[in-house]
Amino acid sequence: MYKSIIIGTGPAGLTAAIYLARANMKPLIIEGPEPGGQLTTTTEVENFPGFPEGIMGPELMANMRKQAERFGAEFVTGWVNSVDMSERPFKLQVEGKGEFVGESIIISTGASARWLGIPGEKDNVGRGVSTCATCDGFFFRNKKIIVVGGGDSAMEEANFLTRFATNVELVNRRDELRASKIMQDRARENEKISWSLNRTPLEVVASGMGVTGLKVRNNVSGEEEVIETDGVFIAIGHTPNTKFLNGQIDTDDHGYIIVKPGSSETNVPGVFACGDVQDNKYRQAITAAGSGCMAALDCERFLESNGSH
Ligand SMILES: Cc1cc2nc3c(=O)[nH]c(=O)nc-3n(C[C@H](O)[C@H](O)[C@H](O)COP(=O)(O)OP(=O)(O)OC[C@H]3O[C@@H](n4cnc5c(N)ncnc54)[C@H](O)[C@@H]3O)c2cc1C
Repeated sequence: MYKSIIIGTGPAGLTAAIYLARANMKPLIIEGPEPGGQLTTTTEVENFPGFPEGIMGPELMANMRKQAERFGAEFVTGWVNSVDMSERPFKLQVEGKGEFVGESIIISTGASARWLGIPGEKDNVGRGVSTCATCDGFFFRNKKIIVVGGGDSAMEEANFLTRFATNVELVNRRDELRASKIMQDRARENEKISWSLNRTPLEVVASGMGVTGLKVRNNVSGEEEVIETDGVFIAIGHTPNTKFLNGQIDTDDHGYIIVKPGSSETNVPGVFACGDVQDNKYRQAITAAGSGCMAALDCERFLESNGSH
């Protein structure tokens, strides 16, 4: 029986682990399918405070893990298949590892970016393909960028990226955009944004140096062409990793866990959420880490007031 079980080892889960371990709570942390989380899929991280020269994503995450281990956090590698939240203590089923029981749970399973699923896409993450304009826009000063998507976030990312790029080409499969009128108008008024609508992305084209173009099919003429670019930003949304909770926790329409404002508390007492899994807005490493700290402190107070600290 653990006092607290943390699910996920991105910046949110590992920060919660550091706090709980330092508070002598001996947390168990379950790493899941992507130990270290999303930052392990990137190269340089330049906006995490404390690293004036930047730090490689995998190194930052390895450091956070070591810091949690130093204070006695215990790790299990495995995928949480289900959690029984009908009564406390909670029971977790971990693929290949069996059942683990905890008096409290911190969910920090992140939100996965949706991908187009075309050749060249995943191979070039960090070499010109990105799903995060806030994170990677800075690397594209005076370059040409393509943004794929037609929703509000695609419009927002395109507008933001014009701060750096010489030109942003918005590629969307359909002729119509899903984005709200105000976001569309803002993008259409931006002279640095050009439009390739009714185009289906087929392949990210790259040389040894990185991305050079996006191959698309014109849905009207059926013709294929390569649009030259230095970067492709995929902005077709995120999927919060909450399926394994099987509807036991309140989520919004997009599946993000709802927490009480200003806290990490979910609707189930003793279950807390932090990081991108409850954040549809900021989705940054530092906000994830900050909310991981909140979850650990909320969790400690919960256990204290329930007489189990
Ligand atoms: C390519 C890329 C570059 C980025 N660059 C930056 C940047 O420069 N700066 C910045 O601030 N942010 C950046 N981000 C965003 C940042 O990575 C995220 O905001 C941050 O990682 C979110 O942290 P998290 O802890 O909430 O979740 P994640 O990092 O997503 O971690 C989720 C964890 O949950 C685990 N998990 C999921 N499902 C299960 C399950 N069923 N059972 C067990 N475990 C599970 C996973 O294995 C993983 O360990 C980038 C993101 C990407 C994809």
